[in-house]
Amino acid sequence: MEVIKAIPVSPGVVIGPAFVLHDVLERVAYQTVHKEDVKREIKRLDHAVGEAIRDLEADRDRAAEKLGPEPAKIFEAHLALLHDRTLIDPIRERVETDRVTAEFAVAEAFRSLAERFRSMESEVFRQKANDILDLDRRVLGKLFGRTVDRLARLTGPVIVVAHELTPGQAAGLDLTKVLGLATDAGGRTSHASIMAAALGLPVVVGCQRLSLQVNDGDEIIVDGRTGVVVVRPDEETLEHYQRDVERRAQDEADLKTMASLPTVTLDGTAVSLMGNIEFTHEIDAVLANGGDGVGLYRTEFLHLTSPTEPTEEDHFKAYTRAIEMLEGRPLTLRTLDLGADKYTQERAEEPERNPFLGLRSIRYCLQNLPIFKTQLRAMVRASALGPIRIMFPLICTVMELRQTKMILHDVMEECQDEGIEFDRDIPIGMMVETPSAALMARSFARDVSFFSIGTNDLIQYTLAVDRGNERVANLYTGANPAVIQLVKGVVRAGKRFDVETSLCGELAGEVEYTMLLIGLGLRTLSLVPSQIPHVKRVIRSVDIPTCERLSRKIGSLDSERQVRRCLSEELQKVLPEMVGGWSVE
Ligand code: PEP
Ligand code: MG
Repeated sequence: MEVIKAIPVSPGVVIGPAFVLHDVLERVAYQTVHKEDVKREIKRLDHAVGEAIRDLEADRDRAAEKLGPEPAKIFEAHLALLHDRTLIDPIRERVETDRVTAEFAVAEAFRSLAERFRSMESEVFRQKANDILDLDRRVLGKLFGRTVDRLARLTGPVIVVAHELTPGQAAGLDLTKVLGLATDAGGRTSHASIMAAALGLPVVVGCQRLSLQVNDGDEIIVDGRTGVVVVRPDEETLEHYQRDVERRAQDEADLKTMASLPTVTLDGTAVSLMGNIEFTHEIDAVLANGGDGVGLYRTEFLHLTSPTEPTEEDHFKAYTRAIEMLEGRPLTLRTLDLGADKYTQERAEEPERNPFLGLRSIRYCLQNLPIFKTQLRAMVRASALGPIRIMFPLICTVMELRQTKMILHDVMEECQDEGIEFDRDIPIGMMVETPSAALMARSFARDVSFFSIGTNDLIQYTLAVDRGNERVANLYTGANPAVIQLVKGVVRAGKRFDVETSLCGELAGEVEYTMLLIGLGLRTLSLVPSQIPHVKRVIRSVDIPTCERLSRKIGSLDSERQVRRCLSEELQKVLPEMVGGWSVE
């Protein structure tokens, strides 16, 4: 038995036979054709590209049906590549001039391009290389006259294990046959992870060498909540997880009733649970799970899924849809959080050496005002339609915040001059996701009406651990006392200066942390929609004095291990049936 602790992407536990997707790209031999066959070879090439385009269009439509229009746009980017003459023409020329086979010309062009991306050793470029290889696989599949992708030939329920999946493969997974997914590489925010999570599959990424350790048919367990993958489990572990699966199935049934119940503690304190979304269609899940609104709309996903720059109208349409779906419930629109692993590096001529510390998020917006203002205009216009709040990401200094607010005010003035209706009192807030913002929360409090603590980034910047790097995933934890101290300080500052404070990092959805967060004084949490009923159940089972006692006790601990143990034990006391997330560490 082997236990691998990797990066959880999407919750749920599954047990089943592995289906290992080895790198299916085969060696394509150098071969030439006779002079008189060159025309036919070019025809074959054009035909294969055309067929691949048709397949992609079908996949795009299928994804649109399953996931909604926004995620489906990832395929538009692939389609744009296949329509790109600067990519395809040199392949045709190679066949024409050097009389090589269409197969060889395709493989050579796509793979050398992918290799160039790969050699840059950046996560973002690895992803881009994957997109190119996806196209290589598709076009070669057509040329060879067969489907290269084994995924299309699945027969029974399996857990897919791969080195890395392309977004196309993730979106094409057959939900009647695929139970879950585990990959060697990738981060929580890679396109394929987003796609797979949106399908509702348990997903773990960053398992390092898993695809080499597992054979087809080997029994494996994937725990998408803790990021644990167990290979060939022993009897005891298998039984433990089987009980876990049964309990969770029963739990899911019980939790369905949770959606309509109020989120109050045993002693009557109300807590607001909001949903985090990337695409508007996820609002259905927020409401079905009993969420009170949207506490974090990651609006940058409109950029990530669109081959061209979204227009003001694109933004406005998305916000209007969200407002309509929420029917008067609150909606917090976060301005573009591009950069780092999202979008800008892929399109930059000179990628940054250290993008997580580079031109990302609000910094990127402040240096790209047309993009930023386009979005702000759409937000300002949308404010006439429903209760929105605007939130700025990655604010590090007070000057940065003030500069950002000035730009928003400029946009409002422009709208006013143009006679556009909007809400003049849109609540303006900021993410607190850097140590500098957390430490200076009191100073920021004068300039905002709300704080939202982003623990995903706060953890990475406090502990100097890349949140998407599988090699240091074991060091990335919210149980670190320094992180907890920072959260505590922000909540205190918010209370002192009457700034509403919520928390929207993934910790908000981890039940082990719920009592601590309530004990620290948080009364609004924003989390992945599927976790809302789980967190609600904890809240309905505790009282405030117990949570406050726990937070004081945690405050006296100085190691992550002690913090984890204490949180687990306290949760077990309140809800003994609740499965702890750290049982197999
Ligand atoms: C965070 O950093 O905690 C957060 C919620 O933002 P994101 O995960 O989009 O960076
Ligand atoms: Mg963040």
